[in-house]
Amino acid sequence: MSVHEVLDRTEPANFVRGGWKVGTGGVTAVTNPADPADRIATVPDSTAGDVDAAVAVAGGAAPAWAATPGPARGDVLRRWNDLIGEHAEELAALMTREMGKPLAESRGEIGRARLELDYAAGEATRLHGTTVPSRAAGQLVFTEREPLGVVAAITPWNFPAVAPIRKLEPALVTGNTVVLKPADATPLTALALAGLLRDAGLPDGVLGVVCGTGATAGARLAEHPDVAAVSFTGSTAVGRGIAEKVARRLGSVQLELGGKNAAYVHSAHDLDRVVDQITGAAVQASGQRCTAISRVIVDDSLADDLVARLSARFSALRVGPGTATDTEVGPLISDEAVQKVAGYIGRGLAEGAVRTTPERDVPAGRYVAPVVLDHVRPEMAVARDEIFGPVLTVTRVSDVDEAIAVVNDGDYGLAAVVFATDLDVSLRVARATRTGMVHVNHGTTSQPHVPFGGVNASGVGEFSIGYTSTEFFTSLKVVYLSPEVP
Ligand code: NAD
Repeated sequence: MSVHEVLDRTEPANFVRGGWKVGTGGVTAVTNPADPADRIATVPDSTAGDVDAAVAVAGGAAPAWAATPGPARGDVLRRWNDLIGEHAEELAALMTREMGKPLAESRGEIGRARLELDYAAGEATRLHGTTVPSRAAGQLVFTEREPLGVVAAITPWNFPAVAPIRKLEPALVTGNTVVLKPADATPLTALALAGLLRDAGLPDGVLGVVCGTGATAGARLAEHPDVAAVSFTGSTAVGRGIAEKVARRLGSVQLELGGKNAAYVHSAHDLDRVVDQITGAAVQASGQRCTAISRVIVDDSLADDLVARLSARFSALRVGPGTATDTEVGPLISDEAVQKVAGYIGRGLAEGAVRTTPERDVPAGRYVAPVVLDHVRPEMAVARDEIFGPVLTVTRVSDVDEAIAVVNDGDYGLAAVVFATDLDVSLRVARATRTGMVHVNHGTTSQPHVPFGGVNASGVGEFSIGYTSTEFFTSLKVVYLSPEVP
């Protein structure tokens, strides 16, 4: 398989039963955010019937895949990882074309996905149970983890490779079959990854990929009675609706949702290194990241200096197409996203924020120059809502208590950052933040084998990545084994 198998199809198709299957509804064009006239390919706008058919195929494949020894399932994932490595350049180019992020970031995303996959493949040999002492003489009591059956994965557009892989690896290694609905804007990377999984030896039917809208294909997956669990990554509003649907039939959900992540700058030996960390975390993927740092909370004593350095750095960031080698900030995903970001900047200014990065020219199209807004108060919309663009707000505080209150003021709870030279302050802030992850003295970079997730409006259910991930995709079985009838 090569990416051309996806790009050069004459008939738009989903991936079902190990092959390409034309949908029963219309088709949608996938376009390039850097050049919307570039129609990359068309994919099915799948109907509820297409989803039902894919779920039925996955249901048929479930018993044999569950009965396959775990280490053999892990071997398939290892071969998949090798193939992703062999096709890394093609995949990275495809991601940049359909999502817009700079090519270096796309390459980094493939590398990151491969490390996560490497860890997950090994989980096949680590699906441990326990033995529990029995009160009955001679009886053995032990636990095992069992697959759930057919699970659904619904993914966002901002990480076209990592988002699907992060769900497929733990779901498949634990013996489930999967129907994946990738984001409407970026389904091509997911389809290419499915082709590579087939080439790696995944039995037909174990994975289905159904393209289409959330309102039709996604919603049908969420309400389908034969889908045991739904792992969703996306916005909080959509996640809430999915959770309601799945709860009605007592299925389980893993929701990885939005964020409004704060970095508190208390003290630093070298403020420029702090600026490096904040800038990288704020503008990667043009700020379209759940873990983007979008708020800076800074002690009054450092504020003027930090804002001046951040503003200079933001003003110098090179904005352009992801294919240009010097681009640091690519286009936003859609015209609506550009309008949304511009709307928030305007609203922030109207409510009293001060823009410290001068207006400047950027290429025509879906480009937004990175912006720093100073003197932002915690109650402003720019400080509370997930803007999903290269916009950084700065709120000034007078002490650590006020900083903690501001960091925690909001609905989200994904990641927080504290920069401090003082271990007491670092630990105090780390313990006091109501977030799933806290980073001390670096940006929001996570690791590919460490649990990842949020609390409050940022997440529900087991964290993904690392040892927690397989817990979501399995149920516990307790076995009481008596050698003979008492
Ligand atoms: P989105 O919620 O609009 O869409 C996500 C997915 O859900 C897409 O595949 C979409 O088609 C589908 N969908 C939409 N409506 C649906 C419905 N009614 N029923 C079922 N499925 C439906 O999000 P997005 O714009 O694609 O992604 C951006 C969001 O994702 C941001 O909020 C970001 O913070 C979040 N995100 C979170 C994480 C994390 O790990 N916490 C990671 C990446 C992105």
